[in-house]
Amino acid sequence: MRYAIGVDLGGSHVTAGIIGEDGSINGQHELDLSDLAFPAVLEALVSVIGKALTDSGKAVAIGIGSPGNIDHDDGVVRYSPNFGWENAPLGSTLAKRFDVPVKVGNDARCATLGEYAFGTGSGTKDFVLLTLGTGIGGGIVAGGELLLGNDFGAGEIGHHQIRPTDGFICGCGKIGCFEAQASGMGLIRHAAAVAASFPKSTLLSMPPEKLGSKKIRKAAQAGNAHALAAWKNYASDLALGLANIVAFVNPQRIALGGGVSTAGEFMLDAVRARVDELTTMVPRGRTEIAVAKLGNDAGQVGAALMAFRGRLSARP
Ligand SMILES: [Zn+2]
Repeated sequence: MRYAIGVDLGGSHVTAGIIGEDGSINGQHELDLSDLAFPAVLEALVSVIGKALTDSGKAVAIGIGSPGNIDHDDGVVRYSPNFGWENAPLGSTLAKRFDVPVKVGNDARCATLGEYAFGTGSGTKDFVLLTLGTGIGGGIVAGGELLLGNDFGAGEIGHHQIRPTDGFICGCGKIGCFEAQASGMGLIRHAAAVAASFPKSTLLSMPPEKLGSKKIRKAAQAGNAHALAAWKNYASDLALGLANIVAFVNPQRIALGGGVSTAGEFMLDAVRARVDELTTMVPRGRTEIAVAKLGNDAGQVGAALMAFRGRLSARP
């Protein structure tokens, strides 16, 4: 079997996996990132990729999933608000450091490809992945091919506005983006927004940076009134965005990944009925909404598949 190195470049750490052509993960190396300047991230990448290459012995290519708007043809990160990069030549710079071909793609599109080929999307031709983490990453497979768009921007589902007049401010500057309302961070914001109605609640007693969405979700599952109110508003916004996606691309299956999705059926039950209510011109109840299978590994697996194929594509 052939192996490729699949790299998931995140805002806090970078992970390089040794990925087989069958999607198997045969070892991983991880490094925390403290400095997000381009030269520092490059050195971190060279270090983890070098270790993974040595371990693999015979990897044939390197694929990197990076945040930002990326020209998949030349591997240039056109801009990445997370890293503060503009026109960073990530692919060509790394290619000079290694003896095997290097491909660079958007991290969320890579994760979509991985989940489509080896996870929840497998067996479908029309599939959407949404990763509900600090933000919302996403990607769309339509008619068996990953949508990239005219300028590599297709799939930025997190930044369609669902509450432009009364929503939370998004990291992108707009108000009420799907990401601002329905990411893990969105759940925290919903909890803060309804806090005044629950003066005795202890949910927000810890500093906001330490309060994870997981704590609120678990409290909701345990019946905490404050957490349940936040969860209800959160699920309502999540369902609204999902129904919009159903209308845009009529997928067979939508997979939800990221921290919030670990709630499993508790989350799916909260959104399925509402998605159906909001679905009008597309046959109702036909879009399967499921939890993503590959979790945090989807990005590495998809990046490796891109490397094997020499292009970011869902077609073999
Ligand atoms: Zn936005």
